[in-house]
Amino acid sequence: MTGPLEGPSLLRCARCARPGRLSRQPIPTTAEGRVVVLTRRFPEGRICSGCYAKACETYGRCEACGEHRLTPGIGPQGQRWCTDCAGGLGDFTCPRCGQEGWLHRDGQCARCLLTDQLRELLDDGTGQVRAELVPLLESIRVMSRPRSGLLWLSRPQAPAILTALARGDVALTHEGLSCLAPKRSVIYVRDLLIACGVLPPIDRFLFLFEQWLPGWLEAITDEQQRSLLRQFATWDVLRKLRRAAAKGPVGHYRNQNAREHLRKAAGFLEDLQRHGRTLSTCTQADLDRWTAGASFSQRQALRPFLKWATARGHLPPLRLPTGVAIERTPISQRQRIELIRRVRTDPAMTGGDRVLALLVLLYAQPLNKIAQMSIDAVIRDGDEVLLRLGDPATPVPAPFGQFFTDHVARRSNLTTATNPDSTFLFPGRRAGQPIHPTSLRLRLQQLGIPNLDGRTRAIRELLMRAPAPVVAGMLGYADASTEQLAARSGATYKNYASGEHDSRRMPRLPAR
Ligand SMILES: [Zn+2]
Ligand SMILES: [Zn+2]
Ligand SMILES: [Zn+2]
Repeated sequence: MTGPLEGPSLLRCARCARPGRLSRQPIPTTAEGRVVVLTRRFPEGRICSGCYAKACETYGRCEACGEHRLTPGIGPQGQRWCTDCAGGLGDFTCPRCGQEGWLHRDGQCARCLLTDQLRELLDDGTGQVRAELVPLLESIRVMSRPRSGLLWLSRPQAPAILTALARGDVALTHEGLSCLAPKRSVIYVRDLLIACGVLPPIDRFLFLFEQWLPGWLEAITDEQQRSLLRQFATWDVLRKLRRAAAKGPVGHYRNQNAREHLRKAAGFLEDLQRHGRTLSTCTQADLDRWTAGASFSQRQALRPFLKWATARGHLPPLRLPTGVAIERTPISQRQRIELIRRVRTDPAMTGGDRVLALLVLLYAQPLNKIAQMSIDAVIRDGDEVLLRLGDPATPVPAPFGQFFTDHVARRSNLTTATNPDSTFLFPGRRAGQPIHPTSLRLRLQQLGIPNLDGRTRAIRELLMRAPAPVVAGMLGYADASTEQLAARSGATYKNYASGEHDSRRMPRLPAR
């Protein structure tokens, strides 16, 4: 056959309508991309393995008999039906536990299989699950989609980690876990152990930094430099991180910044050494030479080290580089409004996309903060929706309020991992964790929404309508940074205030 297969000759899944084939058929070429394998025959036709799995994991009230159970059937008007009411779907009851669900070839359900596998992996060597790990077994066992648990255990990494913990090859502590590899899987298991109470909570990023530090210092060959950097790390960098951790989560960026401060300090010491100097013999000319070749962010990253070294008398008093921030060019107000309009109308955007875009374009929220936001920040007050970003809460103009309340009701990632109780506005895939700020940044990129530039424009527009302290309060920004921005953009409230202002009013969008 030549050319793409189309029209009536092409098989399709009766549920998702994607092009499909029978398992023994060759893969046809179609203009629509991936061809699914049609594995089951349901009354409405052949369906693909994905739709079958979904049918076996959908529970709720049957719209025909009213019973609360598995509802794999779909009626002609989209009704959810149990297998008895739908007819012709088969029996989904596990002969072992009596529950309905996805059944493996041997007839057992995914949860029974998962339980067996976990019992085996968590066996302490006596034929019993290690007592301390029973809560872990329970928390994985009851996950809403046990098939994803089976998939997790089908790869080699996780079973090796679980076995090592169960057999006592390493201590059942944060330190013990850190001896295991690979890192990603260890982090996942650590989150699960914290979520089920086996291990005490720990600031993950502070912990990662503490894990990273000794190896990094070890690699510094010059003994004197290593000793200086160790002192700086201990008395300045770590102390600040611990202080931050006591107040709230350290977060990805702070952890990365701390490493960057150390790397820049090491780089500066090497540069001095190349020029036959040490920190104590460093002159203004040496510092200026380094500064001349450094970018703004590099200068910023070195500052904490220079300040610390000066205060401790390791560095003679010198003029420290001050660097001026490179002004970002914000998008125009017209572009911003176009983007906000797209948030309302673009059918390709999910509810989460819309909320993310609005937080950047309307409220100038940094991604770090968005990642940490809880659903409690969205407040419904009668017909009005308010956002608690700072104080006071900010009203969300219609029709955007609805986007926020809808998103809270239908967040993703609540079923994929053992993360059913997450209160994060954007739950992550890992237990008890929010989404990573990088994921948010990538999503904005995919949506074609400029993050920093969009934020800069948003904050400028807000500053034209209310005094900086009011904007700062509403958005939860530090006062100084908004004042600074106001001053730099030359658009202070004073110049624009035309008598009328309401501190709670957000900029009005042109109707259309
Ligand atoms: Zn399908
Ligand atoms: Zn029924
Ligand atoms: Zn079962």
